[in-house]
Amino acid sequence: MTTIFEKIIAGELSADIVYKDEQVTAFRDINPAAPTHILIVPNKAIPTVNDIQPEDEPVVGHMIYVAKLLAEQEGIAEDGYRLIFNCNKHGGQEVFHLHLHLIGGRPLGPMVVRK
Ligand code: AMP
Repeated sequence: MTTIFEKIIAGELSADIVYKDEQVTAFRDINPAAPTHILIVPNKAIPTVNDIQPEDEPVVGHMIYVAKLLAEQEGIAEDGYRLIFNCNKHGGQEVFHLHLHLIGGRPLGPMVVRK
């Protein structure tokens, strides 16, 4: 099934794209949780973290490297930021195309709500 992120990567759906290369595309989240909220996605369709295969290790590493570059570009590297992969139901994943959230620009509070 084609996801909205595949359509963004293919240029069929508009998005605020901040970075693109042969391996990944990065664009601003449509519903930002903080002043900087960027999604870094592999151009290859990988549904969830559970679906990452050994041959995907380079692209997953590249996603994190691009997050670091974008944090510098956004001016949030020094103060810090959070990188999040949500996986499936308990992780709160809504779009089933692997994506790394880069979130920052303000103090983000506790990592997880404790119950
Ligand atoms: P997740 O819950 O980890 O699957 O996150 C999916 C994210 O995609 C959410 O933060 C949404 O706000 C974001 N999102 C959904 N549709 C779009 C879109 N068309 N452009 C940019 N971000 C989107």
